[in-house]
Amino acid sequence: MSAGMSASASSPAIVWFRDDLRVADNPALCRAAASGRALICVYVHEGDGAIGRPLGGAARWMLHGALGALDAQLRRRGGALLLSRGAAGPAIEALAATTSAGAVFWNRRYGGPEREADATLKASLAARGVAAHSANASLMREPWSVANADGKPFRVFSAFWRAFARQGEVDPPEPAPERLAFHELPPAALSLAELRLTPRKPDWSAGLAEAWPAGEAAAHGRLGAFLEGPLRGYGKGRDRPDRAGTSRLSPYLRCGAISPRQAWAAAASAQHAGGGASAGDFDKFRAELGWREFSYHLLYHFPELARRNFQPRFDAMAWRGDASGLEAWRRGRTGYPLVDAGMRELWATGWMHNRVRMVVASFLIKHLLVDWREGEAWFWDTLVDADPASNAASWQWVAGSGADAAPYYRIFNPVLQGEKFDPDATYVKRWVPELAGLPPHLAHRPWTATPAELAAAGLRLGEDYPLPIVDHALARQRALAAHAALRGEAQG
Ligand code: FAD
Repeated sequence: MSAGMSASASSPAIVWFRDDLRVADNPALCRAAASGRALICVYVHEGDGAIGRPLGGAARWMLHGALGALDAQLRRRGGALLLSRGAAGPAIEALAATTSAGAVFWNRRYGGPEREADATLKASLAARGVAAHSANASLMREPWSVANADGKPFRVFSAFWRAFARQGEVDPPEPAPERLAFHELPPAALSLAELRLTPRKPDWSAGLAEAWPAGEAAAHGRLGAFLEGPLRGYGKGRDRPDRAGTSRLSPYLRCGAISPRQAWAAAASAQHAGGGASAGDFDKFRAELGWREFSYHLLYHFPELARRNFQPRFDAMAWRGDASGLEAWRRGRTGYPLVDAGMRELWATGWMHNRVRMVVASFLIKHLLVDWREGEAWFWDTLVDADPASNAASWQWVAGSGADAAPYYRIFNPVLQGEKFDPDATYVKRWVPELAGLPPHLAHRPWTATPAELAAAGLRLGEDYPLPIVDHALARQRALAAHAALRGEAQG
């Protein structure tokens, strides 16, 4: 225990880590440290019985690394991270009882079931005389604090973002507490390996490990490199999957290895210091962080975001149960190179470029007329940044069923998108090596190549690489007809 601790603060405090796996800019950790109590830092893995949605495979892999990195940070300061498994509320209550903890600190989550569970835990801790303190760590502003003139939530991003800006400066991030005093940990702690978060038999995580080094230092390294490099020209470069034009911070924001306030403040310092990026580039980056906030705003006000259409008229949509199309999409074998490249990038690295996410989602929803929830669930399982707010909000945006959604008639043409945003077909050839021998103008539309061109490229179309599983023009007509029927029903 730290010297000078007051008698009233002599019982320990529990810091319950959740989506905030860092020591810097962690209000729960800062408040707990400031309370003068000795700390018990804990993470409870809820597994398949989670109160909210159980994590997907790739997010569990990311979590493993983040927990290890957080434990290392705490050990450097003389403590450690206690790991536990099972229903979180009862686990925290039991820990408070066995350690005679006087207070519990945590940072908020914004899903409906998580909020309910936190409120229940808070009440039952209070009934035992244990103070529970919650704080905001994962958003720049609380989702309820941005509201329109009538106090209602926003449905349109631009209005949300203007209201956000009117509230003034974003709070600066808090540094990691200088000194932390730790309470002795209970002896029966689990090891990280015992949480079984990483895949075995088969272990598909090699590509993920290469792409996503774990921890706060890695996240800040990535942010620094982005601000010094790709931020210059980000306004346009962010749409190019063939270039490293974005920050790749999303998996770190998701597990909380870095906070949006830290990203915001670092961008402000970089802008103040001058450099190559334009004011527009900075504004665009801030607005992308804003889309993340807007997604949480929607999730907070519409907790069913991942399950129900935000616009109920979409409930009548005649989705097709296209099992083989869905499988071809998942495996990156649709015959549309940009779609397949994206789906293979996702499978190999746990991440996909935003422009390509939009194209593959549009393809599944509009070309195949498969319910957006099927795609959302696949992303949930395979993305290292699988996020309860951003994933659901983005899928609904593409489907047209969401708030501020893409119009129903926007049906991305995967060939034109490829030609525009991957003009040399570098991205496509990286992830679909079967097409490596084709010149760029054919790599996005291999079915238009002559037999001689295919032979020169060493490509047997329909064998090495599939022919398109659906004709673009026909699929487009079918999607427009389905939407017209939907609008007819809604009006009728
Ligand atoms: P940058 O361009 O560097 O942006 C910086 C940060 O801003 C990102 O890390 C992210 O936190 C936020 N951001 C950027 N674009 C968006 C957006 N459209 N919506 C919300 N936040 C955004 N993002 C997730 O974090 N998790 C998801 O599960 C997720 N699922 C998506 C599903 C679909 C169908 C689509 C179209 C988009 C999805 N996104 C999701 C949003 C976006 O694609 C990723 O946030 C972005 O590609 C992450 O890369 P980056 O960190 O390099 O982004």
